[in-house]
Amino acid sequence: MAVIRALALAILSSFFSVAAGQLRPLPAAAAHGGLPVDLFSLSIASKLRTDHNSTAKASTDFGQMVKAAPAAVLHPSTPADIAALIRSSAASPAPFPAAPRGQGHSWRGQALAAGGVVVDMRALGRRARINVSAAAGEEPYVDAGGEQLWIDVLHAALKHGLAPRAWTDYLRLTVGGTLSNAGIGGQAFRYGPQIANVHELDVVTGTGEMVTCSRDKNADLFFAALGGLGQFGVITRARIRLERAPKRVRWVRLAYSDVVSFTKDQELLISNRASEAGFDYVEGQVQLNRSFAEGPKSTPFFSGGDMTRLAGFASRTGASAIYYIEAAIKWMYCWSLSFEPGFVFTKDVTYVQFLDRVRQEEQVLRDANPAGIILMYPMNKDRWDDRMTAVTAGGEDDDDGVFYAVGMLWSALSAGDVERLERQNEAVLGFCDEADIGCKQYLPHFTSQDGWRGHFGAKWERLVELKAKYDPHAILSPGQRIFASRAEKAGIASS
Ligand SMILES: Cc1cc2nc3c(=O)[nH]c(=O)nc-3n(C[C@H](O)[C@H](O)[C@H](O)COP(=O)(O)OP(=O)(O)OC[C@H]3O[C@@H](n4cnc5c(N)ncnc54)[C@H](O)[C@@H]3O)c2cc1C
Repeated sequence: MAVIRALALAILSSFFSVAAGQLRPLPAAAAHGGLPVDLFSLSIASKLRTDHNSTAKASTDFGQMVKAAPAAVLHPSTPADIAALIRSSAASPAPFPAAPRGQGHSWRGQALAAGGVVVDMRALGRRARINVSAAAGEEPYVDAGGEQLWIDVLHAALKHGLAPRAWTDYLRLTVGGTLSNAGIGGQAFRYGPQIANVHELDVVTGTGEMVTCSRDKNADLFFAALGGLGQFGVITRARIRLERAPKRVRWVRLAYSDVVSFTKDQELLISNRASEAGFDYVEGQVQLNRSFAEGPKSTPFFSGGDMTRLAGFASRTGASAIYYIEAAIKWMYCWSLSFEPGFVFTKDVTYVQFLDRVRQEEQVLRDANPAGIILMYPMNKDRWDDRMTAVTAGGEDDDDGVFYAVGMLWSALSAGDVERLERQNEAVLGFCDEADIGCKQYLPHFTSQDGWRGHFGAKWERLVELKAKYDPHAILSPGQRIFASRAEKAGIASS
């Protein structure tokens, strides 16, 4: 069972949305007791909003599972505005929390700041802050503001015939938001996640200092911030590697009815032989049998006729799910793969249409797909840089293994659905634990510090040190709920 031997699992935490009125509040930041600082005496006063409309928008996120109102929202014009805000908090006898918010596409309150200040990063982008460098003879790169959307970075780079090397599936996320997690998609098997494709960062630390960092300069901050869940600083600029972009690609889906052949082929495609086979982008999707009945009857990729054939294939083979390898290829070279004969689906599309494909699919899935989708991305562990904060599944010494990122993207329409899905998530995590399958959460969520300690494993003690150095008052991104603020600690100690 070569496939199972190689399998270590990462869970891409499910995204939920629930009907309004069923929101659960974060425990109020009672320890902060409102802002102890008169923010309106600061130079940034004109950029602060305290009206209900502004604070309400910053009180929840894509997941809509957690609600926590900030006292104010900062609309910075420059990174110096963010530094001024954080300095005022750090200098206060009772520092208040501050959270950068990109697109707010978190699912569990990670970009909220109960009783503090949410920094609306998108306000920085009102000025053009994407600069491509394509000097002859030098490796090209783009300097992009942390608030920029990846789709805008793509369009700017394409003007020079270039593009970043590593993507998320969905491009309407911010550079700073995905670099604070990892940023995974179909090229990660070859180039690693987005965090492995960054040369340099500008960061505003939790003491309000503006620092430029890279592998050679302030390296501890550079590695801490990448995958750092916003705990060590606010990323205000990232220098991102570029490569020559293809104009068009062939977008392919290959169908399987058995998981062993599917994962065996995935692992073949992410091996070095993938380059020979011309596969540039490899992901997998699992379509549960019931979704043929409950889900959409066609998608932007599959026509109604394709879906009918696939449903027939599922019923003929008695498979509980159909598995698709999704790939982008330069030329067709599939003879050594074991997909079902006749079940190759291809489309010739522009590179932008391919990279931005989830936008359209998401619209369709939002309308009518209670069944959700499951994604399975095979990854080469050696493309992740272990000096960064992000952690991966598998043993710490296991450098040359393959692991999978598994994304279970369900939607819930009621509080009951949320509870059912939470139990299901717990069951998956529990199963991995019992079966001794190395497993980490992506977009992690824990309710205790022990949970975080276990998540970061051998990196934990170092993270605690770096937190004390770069955000000693635990001001930044409190919605991750990793470190208690000084005021909260005092509250805990006195209670
Ligand atoms: C529809 C959808 C599709 C997705 N697809 C993918 C995918 O294909 N691959 C993938 O890897 N992930 C994916 N995600 C997850 C996504 O990458 C994370 O949720 C990411 O954090 C969202 O970016 P954001 O800009 O909305 O960040 P936010 O939700 O605004 O912030 C996330 C966290 O980072 C902090 N933060 C935000 N900006 C900064 C900054 N500039 N500096 C420091 N910290 C900051 C926040 O305080 C918060 O703690 C998807 C999410 C959704 C909802």
